[in-house]
Amino acid sequence: MEAIIQTNARDVLQQYFGYPSFRGNQEAIISSILAKKDTIVLMPTGGGKSICYQVPAILSEGLTLVISPLISLMKDQVDALNANGISAAFLNSSQSISEQRHISEQIKKSAIKLLYVAPERLFNGSYPLMDFLKEITLGLVAVDEAHCVSQWGHDFRPEYLRIGELRRQFPKVPFIALTATADKRTRADIADKLGLHTPQWFISSFDRNNITYRVTTKQDAMGKLMEFLDFHQKDSGIIYCLSRKNVEETAEQLQARGLSVLPYHAGLAREIREKNQELFIKDEVKIIVATIAFGMGIDKPNVRFVVHMNMPQNIEGYYQETGRAGRDGLPSEALLFYSYQDFMTLNRMMEQAENKEFVEVMQEKLLRMNSFSQSNICRRKYLLNYFGENHPGECGNCDVCFQKGKQQDMTIPSQMLLSTVARLGESYGLGYVILVLRGSKSSKIQASHQELSVYGIGKDRPEEFWKTLGGKLQQHGYLAEAGTIYPTFKLTQMAWEKLKGKEKILLPMEESLSSGKRSTVGHEEGLLDELKSLRIQLARKANIPPYAIFGDNSLIEMATYLPIDTDAFMTISGVGQIKAANYGTTFLKVIQAFVKKHQLQPKRKLSSAKPKTTAGSGSEIITLKLFQSGKKIYQIAQERELNHSTIEDHLIRMIEVGKLEVDEVLSKDDLLTIRLAYRRQGSHYLKPLKEHFGDRFSYFQLKAALVGER
Ligand code: ADP
Ligand code: ZN
Repeated sequence: MEAIIQTNARDVLQQYFGYPSFRGNQEAIISSILAKKDTIVLMPTGGGKSICYQVPAILSEGLTLVISPLISLMKDQVDALNANGISAAFLNSSQSISEQRHISEQIKKSAIKLLYVAPERLFNGSYPLMDFLKEITLGLVAVDEAHCVSQWGHDFRPEYLRIGELRRQFPKVPFIALTATADKRTRADIADKLGLHTPQWFISSFDRNNITYRVTTKQDAMGKLMEFLDFHQKDSGIIYCLSRKNVEETAEQLQARGLSVLPYHAGLAREIREKNQELFIKDEVKIIVATIAFGMGIDKPNVRFVVHMNMPQNIEGYYQETGRAGRDGLPSEALLFYSYQDFMTLNRMMEQAENKEFVEVMQEKLLRMNSFSQSNICRRKYLLNYFGENHPGECGNCDVCFQKGKQQDMTIPSQMLLSTVARLGESYGLGYVILVLRGSKSSKIQASHQELSVYGIGKDRPEEFWKTLGGKLQQHGYLAEAGTIYPTFKLTQMAWEKLKGKEKILLPMEESLSSGKRSTVGHEEGLLDELKSLRIQLARKANIPPYAIFGDNSLIEMATYLPIDTDAFMTISGVGQIKAANYGTTFLKVIQAFVKKHQLQPKRKLSSAKPKTTAGSGSEIITLKLFQSGKKIYQIAQERELNHSTIEDHLIRMIEVGKLEVDEVLSKDDLLTIRLAYRRQGSHYLKPLKEHFGDRFSYFQLKAALVGER
C-alpha cells in the first residue's frame, strides 16, 4: 500500500510541479498525511513546506483548506498553483459577493482542490465558512505559519486559537501545521492550542546552507555596499535600515548611482507601499530599501541578497530577515554592517519600554546579537547553536571561515594601537586614538596627550589602515567597545596577555565582500538573460509574478543543458506537464535560436541519460534494491555487514551504469550547486571541492553529483 502511495506522490510531483524527487522530509510528511495522521512540520524558509500539503491535496478526495494569515500572499500562491494546472482559489474581503459565491459553487462541484483563507474567515460574517465546510467533503486542513497560535511567538494572532474549534468539528480530517519558527516554547504550544491528535512531528535542520553570511564593520559602509552590489548587478535583494529616514537616504543615494531601487516603510502611503512591493515581486525593480516592516508578505524565491545596514535587535529577527534570501535554494548572501553605535542606540530605545521584565529579555537578546556580530566563530555554527542545533562549524561559507588561512602578522602595528588605547586610559573612541597615534595637530588633541610616548608613532600609515586594524582587533577579540554616552575602547584580557607575553598577533586584513565565486561558466549567460526577459514579458501579459512561470533554477538549467525538443525540455526541474504545454514552444524557440546562432551542443541531463548496459555485480544489485526500497546507506551497511564506503561505491557504480538516477541520491539544487562549484574550480580533484563545501556535502555526494562530469 505504502509503495503505491509513494509512486503516486512522486508522479504528482513530476507531473504537476516538474520536480523529479522529494527533498528532505517531504515524502515522509506526505505519507503521514495520506495515512490521515495529524502532522506538524518545522522547516526553515525555503525548505519546501508548500509541497507537503499541495501534493496530498491533489491525491486526497475533497477540498484542502489552507489557513494562512498573509492575505497578501494568497493571490501569488493561487496564481502559482494555477500555472501548474492545479485548481486553487482564495476567499477574502477584497472579493465581491458574486465572486465569492462563484467560488463556493465551484467547490461544491469539486472543481477546486485548494482553498486559501485567513483564519477570521472561518467564523465571521453572516455565513461563516465553518458552516459551509459541513456541506462539502473536507479532505485536509493545512495551517500555515502555525506559530501564530502561540503567545510566545513573535507573531501571535488570537484568531488562530479558534482553529481548535475547527479541529473538534472535523475529528476525522487530518490537520497539518507548518512553521519556520524554531523557538521551543512556541513548538510545544502548536500541538496544544490547535488541539491536534497525537501529531507526528517532522523537524528539519534549520541550516540554510545556500546562504553565505558576512558581517563587516560600518566604516565606509556606502563604499562597501557599492562593492557588494557590484557583484549582484542582475540580482534582486533587500536592504534593511533601522529608521524611515535611513531608508529614504539610502534609497536616494543608490538611485543617484543609477541603481534600480525603491523604498518601503510604514510612513509611505499604503498605495505606494503596495506598488513598490509588487514591482519588486514582479522583478520590475531589483532592490528594495526597507525597514523591517517589509518582508512578511513576501514569498519571492529569487531574492539573492539581504543586507542589514544596522544591527537587528535580536538573532531571531536577523535569521528571519536573512532567511528571505535564497528560498529557491540557489547561492545567496546575507551581509550585516555592524557598529557599536547601533548597539547603544537600540539599547537606549529598549530602555524606554514600560514593562521592565520585557526590557531585560530584549536587552539580553540584543547582547547576544552584539556578540554574534563581533564573534570570531563560524557564523553558521553560532546561529544554529543559538537555536539549539549542533553544528560542527567551519562551514566554509561565511566570512569567518573565508578569513581562516588569510592571516598576516600584524604584531607591531597592533602593539602600537593597543598601547595607545591603554595610554589614553581606555576612555576614548577609535577616532581619537588614531589622531593621537598619527600625531595629529588638531585642536581636539589634549595637550597632555601630545606628551605621550605613543603620540605620532603611527604616522607612517594612513588613517584608513588604522581604522581597518582597529575593526579587526575588535572583531578578533582584542578590543572591546564600552562606554555609555559615546563608544570608547578598552583592551580585553587576551590583548593584555598578548602585549605582556610579546606574542604574535595574526589577523586577516584583506576583506572582500564577495568570495569572487560568481558563476560565469556552467550556463550560457547570454541565453539566461534572454530567457529572463522572455519570462518577464510573459509574466507582464498574464499579470503574475515571473517566478510563477519558471523559477531561476529552471532557467539556469535551460541555459546549461540547452534543451531543443520537448522531451529534453521536460527533464528540466520545475517543468511540469502544464507548463511544458503552455510555455514549452515559446522557450524552446529562444533556446533553439541561441543554440543555432552560437553553434552550441545541447548537453544531456544525467537523469535522462540511461546507457543500456547490464553491468553491475550481484552484490551491487542487492545494494541497489535495498536502497530503492527506501533504506538508508547506514542501514544497508548494517544489514549486509559491509563497510559504509563499500555501499557508497556500489551506489556510485549503479549511477555510472545508469541503473540509479542521481536524483534519487541528491536533490536537484544540491546537484546544481555541486556541479557549478566544480566547474568554477577548474580542477578535476575532489579535495578542494570537499574543502570548499566543508561538511555540507560528503565525498559520496560529490562523487555522485559528478558522475559523467569528471
Ligand atoms: P517554504 O514555504 O518552506 O519557505 P516553499 O514551499 O516556498 O518553501 O519552497 C521553496 C522553493 O523550493 C520553491 O521554489 C519550491 O518550488 C521549491 N521546491 C520545493 N520542493 C521541491 C522539490 N522536491 N524539488 C525541487 N524544488 C522544490
Ligand atoms: Zn562558517
